Amino acid sequence: MAGRVDLDGNPINPMTICMIGAGGFIGSHLCEKLMSETLHTVLAVDVYSDKIKHLLEPTSLPWNGRIQFHRINIKNDSRLEGLIKMADLTVNLAAICTPADYNTRPLDTIYSNFIDALPVVKYCSENGKRLIHFSTCEVYGKTIGAFLPEDSPLRQDPAYFVLSEDASPCIFGPIEKQRWSYACAKQLIERLIYAEGAENGLEFTIVRPFNWIGPRMDFIPGIDGPSEGVPRVLACFSNNLLRHEPLKLVDGGHSQRTFIYIKDAIEAVFLMIENPARANGHIFNVGNPNNEVTVKQLAEMMTQVYSKVSGETPLETPTVDVSSKEFYGEGYDDSDKRIPDMTIINRQLGWNPKTSLWDLLESTLTYQHRTYAEAVKQAMSKTTAN
Ligand code: NAD
Ligand code: UDP
Repeated sequence: MAGRVDLDGNPINPMTICMIGAGGFIGSHLCEKLMSETLHTVLAVDVYSDKIKHLLEPTSLPWNGRIQFHRINIKNDSRLEGLIKMADLTVNLAAICTPADYNTRPLDTIYSNFIDALPVVKYCSENGKRLIHFSTCEVYGKTIGAFLPEDSPLRQDPAYFVLSEDASPCIFGPIEKQRWSYACAKQLIERLIYAEGAENGLEFTIVRPFNWIGPRMDFIPGIDGPSEGVPRVLACFSNNLLRHEPLKLVDGGHSQRTFIYIKDAIEAVFLMIENPARANGHIFNVGNPNNEVTVKQLAEMMTQVYSKVSGETPLETPTVDVSSKEFYGEGYDDSDKRIPDMTIINRQLGWNPKTSLWDLLESTLTYQHRTYAEAVKQAMSKTTAN
């Protein structure tokens, strides 16, 4: 912990970080690593603290005093500016960021991802504080290749699908496809932050996560979240596996994604936090281009891995097709393919992801099984008894 140096060999001084959305999936991993590996202090802001409870209690923990939880809804709390002023750096993770909400709660989605983020940007800019803002790979929308004929050889050309921070366009569907409300709100806040940098000298870094997955992501419906809730794909498929039901493939599961292990991704955020001279003014893709699968392939791999870690035999028919209208409702649309260009993050921070998809699923599904299998079994037997 002592003698930590940045990428240019300079000593890293302990700093105070105001982390908004610290109680979520990414925030909990970031807090965990900041507590165990650094001397930085975290002012953790969120409406929930369940995922970081193990870092807050008991008071005998070695980092006692270096993490404070502030139960604040940033929509309407005047304490926010004071916390940003007290900190050297603000990391904003707060957002509604589950696709099931984008077309069913578009107003909440737009307010959360744009309007609620505005004061954070303003307070950082006015008080001369550095900001690391979490955006999304979804700002790229669809690839250029998606508009080519199915049999076009150009679809295989990386120029038509690799997503580059400084070169790729942002391609969204029509307004009635409300899926894009999230991407559009995130794009506008990116543009505002960029403009604050250009016109008022805000020191900023924008992160575009490409499907970070791992333990503590979202919730298992009916266990630690609403029974009717629809989390992101890792938790949806985990829930199906825990309940021995087929995994639902939306529109055949043809969309492609690259998945990265949360612990690899957090390393990249650490480098941004501790190397401001290299990270300021940049937008970074953070993903693993080597871990690309279709959603159908992901379902098959998760079925195999879960069988290995749980010792349970997979179902004879492990997947079932479902239409997006049935699963998500009207206004859903999808990103076809997401391969991150790694040039900028490699050049600025020398960062590369390490963990294969199989390995990250093995450790994540081991966690899911250990954490939820018993609770799911009990919930299911109660339902049967009733
Ligand atoms: P998450 O939902 O687990 O965490 C978000 C946290 O923000 C939650 O704990 C929530 O309670 C909190 N929050 C939301 N609104 C708030 C408010 N008004 N006041 C206080 N707290 C509030 O999501 P995550 O996966 O940890 O994502 C964090 C960020 O990264 C988000 O901005 C998201 O858009 C972005 N992102 C994540 C991924 C990914 O792969 N996990 C992909 C793309 C983008
Ligand atoms: N998906 C699916 N079945 C599910 C949940 C999601 O087929 O039970 C698909 C979804 O349609 C999308 C992909 O999995 O194509 C990834 O969804 P996720 O919720 O993780 O978010 P996204 O990557 O679209 O932001």
